[in-house]
Amino acid sequence: MFETLTAAPPDKILSLSVLYKNDARPTKMDLGVGVYKDSQGATVIMRAVREAEKRLYESQTTKTYVGMAGDEGFNKAMLKLVFGEEADLSRMFACQTAGGSGALRTIADLLAKARPDATIWMSDPTWANHVPIAKAAGFKTATYPYFDPESGTVNAEAMLQGLKQAKAGDIVLLHGCCHNPTGANLTIDQWGPVADLLIERNLFPFVDLAYQGFGDGLEEDAAAVRLLASKVPEMAVATSCSKNFSVYRDRVGAVILMGKNAESVKIAGSQTLATTRVLYSMPPDHAAAAVRTILEDDALRADWKSELETMRLRMLNLRKGFAEALRRQSNSSRFDFIADHRGMFSLLGLTEAQVDRLRNEFGIYLVGDSRLNVAGVKEDRLDDLAKAVVAIL
Ligand code: PMP
Repeated sequence: MFETLTAAPPDKILSLSVLYKNDARPTKMDLGVGVYKDSQGATVIMRAVREAEKRLYESQTTKTYVGMAGDEGFNKAMLKLVFGEEADLSRMFACQTAGGSGALRTIADLLAKARPDATIWMSDPTWANHVPIAKAAGFKTATYPYFDPESGTVNAEAMLQGLKQAKAGDIVLLHGCCHNPTGANLTIDQWGPVADLLIERNLFPFVDLAYQGFGDGLEEDAAAVRLLASKVPEMAVATSCSKNFSVYRDRVGAVILMGKNAESVKIAGSQTLATTRVLYSMPPDHAAAAVRTILEDDALRADWKSELETMRLRMLNLRKGFAEALRRQSNSSRFDFIADHRGMFSLLGLTEAQVDRLRNEFGIYLVGDSRLNVAGVKEDRLDDLAKAVVAIL
């Protein structure tokens, strides 16, 4: 049986982590893998998560199955987190998934049942796992222009023009906030015309919301999704708790669907659960129960928000500090865009050879496309990092 197989290519980002681990230089910097780190370089368990886990440990009396859609309290809390406390949820469906990746794949499989001949359009560039997930669900993929490496901003006009190539019924994958890998995002004013184009051309919005709370704030980062929801007839959102609750390995996220009416979303929801039933039957419970515990308790929720805000502000300060350090070291404003980017990543616009030089000569590890994880930078190493970048230009 297995002799018919050839080895799958190694995951580029995870291979980088191995190289980093084996690098003996004490000055090395891991700016590759996409996890939040504090100023000590640690990915800590958030206080509210610890407390919620303690409460669960003390109160849980059974590990029997929860249900096909997971924890319904969690699902409702996710809907409110994404759409707001006062949102009308009558045309919404949510189910708990194994991380944001689980949500993305479940939505892709659902959409493949609904419209197998559609193409999924993705930003150029996009998160490395988007294309494989879409292909695994059987979709054709295409790209729309997104990032302008010269200015480090989104080329919104080119994006709109590019999306005009899509045919009616196609699917458009959008990053709800904190674009990965570029860090460049549409302004809320630029989202309006995108929504209008989707409606005009009958394109289906599929939003990946993996970093709510990492950009401009919890509410602000949901603004694009909420704007879309106020305009388009139907949409799907894949959300993740990996980053904003720092529960990466415990795997929790959610599929969210908005239908044209309550009846249509009920049918789509039932097909979603039929999809997960044959994949893994039911989602893991632990982190979802912790997240639900936090979101349903005023004090825990406030503490979670406050710790998340500390993380967000740290990334913003590092962005400002790094842009200033690059200005000092290069005597140019070329990298000012880093301060305007949001989320954990910025695409620096370096060649693969330059990224290799950063690693080989300076022990600075970026992903090959020159994606830098700002959260991995230490406050007292900003000038070292800027000097190294300027040296390899
Ligand atoms: N979407 C994007 C854009 C991401 O960057 C990530 C995490 N790297 C995910 C989805 C999914 O993350 P997870 O499955 O760990 O929740």
